[in-house]
Amino acid sequence: MAQHFLLSKSAKTLSLAQVFQMKDDQAEMAFRRVRWADTDGAPVCPHCGGVDAYDCRRLKGAPRFRCRACVKDFTITSGTLFASHKLPLRAYLAAIAIFCNEVKGKSALALSRDLNVSYKCAFVLLHKLREAMAAELKGRVVGGEGKVAEVDGGYFGGYIKPANQKEYRRDRRLAKNQNGKRQVVVIVRERGGNGVPAVFKSEAQAIKFISQRVAKGTTINADEASSWDALHSRFEMKRINHQEAYSLDGACTNWAEEFFSRMRRAEIGHHHHIAGQYLLRYAQEATWREDNRRSANGEQVNRLTGLALKAKPSVDFGGYWQRHITS
Ligand SMILES: [Zn+2]
Repeated sequence: MAQHFLLSKSAKTLSLAQVFQMKDDQAEMAFRRVRWADTDGAPVCPHCGGVDAYDCRRLKGAPRFRCRACVKDFTITSGTLFASHKLPLRAYLAAIAIFCNEVKGKSALALSRDLNVSYKCAFVLLHKLREAMAAELKGRVVGGEGKVAEVDGGYFGGYIKPANQKEYRRDRRLAKNQNGKRQVVVIVRERGGNGVPAVFKSEAQAIKFISQRVAKGTTINADEASSWDALHSRFEMKRINHQEAYSLDGACTNWAEEFFSRMRRAEIGHHHHIAGQYLLRYAQEATWREDNRRSANGEQVNRLTGLALKAKPSVDFGGYWQRHITS
């Protein structure tokens, strides 16, 4: 059997030791090269786009530039997801490396121990990284003429603990005994390609989303759940009855199941509780990880740092926290 990608040498191109051995100016340069890739790290003014800026550090040595054209100041992270950052740049690189190295997800509590920061700080940092990953999925359409995509749903949240004594236990399958917090993550995944996730109250509500995010001419594979019946009018469908087989005559949803396998392990092994308004972000993280699972860890770190430095200051965690997460 072929060697698993993660066991191979080409999967490992950046170690945490390398990140921590970086001097301040090396970490600074690493960020500059990602942020201003077109000029190979030479600062570009975010206010006027000018390329003539000079080093104008703060008194304690924190990097800052001043634009000769508009005389405004800016830093490497101005106007990005890491704007007004408090930790040294090296810590952000380390956080991104740790986050990418954990292939199923990283617990915020564990990261707070790794970096010696508060749980809240680690939680916000990780959610900002998820927000950066989500930027890559925005507006993505999968499939196309002659291509195959798979659709499936997985339920998260709304757990009801059974009562201690048997006489007080209720049938938790009945709607009246549930708390209404259960949501379904629906994934559309192109075979051999990328995926797009979304969150709904039920699978049936996902039909419009699927129609918008799957290109015409795609053959969709789905399981036997009646919620997908409405897709027959728009797409060529292949259905697989999981009671009978997991894969039959080329019909299967194994690519979608693979996504849920990763996300379920993130829930059980790392986060313990994925629900509410944050569920979509965790689904987007799992999708990004699936899409990039065959990239070396150094490449993943570069890619994610690039996304974070391209993203505007956080929508989810800028100003007042915990506003509703919409996309
Ligand atoms: Zn300027």
